[in-house]
Amino acid sequence: MTARVLQTTISHPVNLSGVGIHCGQPATVRIVPAGADHGIVFRRARGGADTIRADVAHIGATDHCTTLVGDGWSVATVEHLLAALSGLEIDNALVEIDGPEVPAMDGSAAPFFEALDQAGIETLDAPRHFIRVTRAIRVELGRAAAEFRPGAQRRFEVELDFANPVVGRQTYAADLSPDLFRRDIGPARTFGFLAEAQALWSRGFALGASLDNALVVGDGHIVNPDGARFADEFARHKAVDAIGDLALAGAPILGTFHTHRGGHSLHALALKTLLATPDAYEILEQPAPRFGRLAGFSAAVYGPAVS
Ligand SMILES: [Zn+2]
Repeated sequence: MTARVLQTTISHPVNLSGVGIHCGQPATVRIVPAGADHGIVFRRARGGADTIRADVAHIGATDHCTTLVGDGWSVATVEHLLAALSGLEIDNALVEIDGPEVPAMDGSAAPFFEALDQAGIETLDAPRHFIRVTRAIRVELGRAAAEFRPGAQRRFEVELDFANPVVGRQTYAADLSPDLFRRDIGPARTFGFLAEAQALWSRGFALGASLDNALVVGDGHIVNPDGARFADEFARHKAVDAIGDLALAGAPILGTFHTHRGGHSLHALALKTLLATPDAYEILEQPAPRFGRLAGFSAAVYGPAVS
């Protein structure tokens, strides 16, 4: 399936504005077309030409969201935008941002993929490269666990196990494709528990959260007047997060990613472990590999060439 699949970008720039779910501050992102082998790169819209490549080497904090850290600045909550780009198989884009956090929009990846679809997707004259899982890798983090397994598809399997009975145990599994992402995964919203709101606010999280950008779980029921978009919206949103976090591999991963009680920290640990285990994956159609060291991991790590 991987023979001569070509890279893509968007046809026209597109803007989205809103508040960050954690910082509560407004920001505008402008997503701009980029050439082959550029990858996904964030650029600070004000204050110079500083860029942060969306890759594992730039993962910073992973509490409640994934933050990318560059030289003297950072951008938080990148995962839903990255999920939309990855879900629609868009390899190259420049994301200009004028605030500290990607806007939450409605809490899902839908506003992002709708904007990308509106911009149009264009094929580039360069082969896409893939990371193919060649043997199983498992990581554990407390009571959470994740596993990569070999497979021909980009498959995501998510298991949730929450004490709160409104969420409880949920599973979601699917082979990813752009159409499936648009229909079944992308619209699933981030979620939070009313009982935890005070504790989150006191730690500087969820300051921009509301019923407009999150599925809120109260005492025994969903607080949002319109309820859930899917019966298993919680599990589907974990798939959004996993797809967005795995996009930091810099190339689509062929194989199954299975998580149990997953979150951003687990996703980052699993991805770093995979990429630090050279006999667990191979790169197909690799145009110009660049190997470098990743702090805390001793093995060589693949990173797309910097243009
Ligand atoms: Zn999320």
